[in-house]
Amino acid sequence: MATTTRGKVLRELKSSGRGTCPLCGRTRIKLLYDHINEEGETIKVCKICRPKKKLIKK
Ligand SMILES: [Zn+2]
Repeated sequence: MATTTRGKVLRELKSSGRGTCPLCGRTRIKLLYDHINEEGETIKVCKICRPKKKLIKK
């Protein structure tokens, strides 16, 4: 599976994958991780808010 959190893939995303994290409110941070909120919607969150069990080794 291709990585979607690094390299030129980011530049193809809207705003290079950056935005305001809906969970922690950090601005201009990269929103790279899928997170399912309480309503069952999938939202993009920053690395700090990503689901812990989906940690990826570098
Ligand atoms: Zn966050």
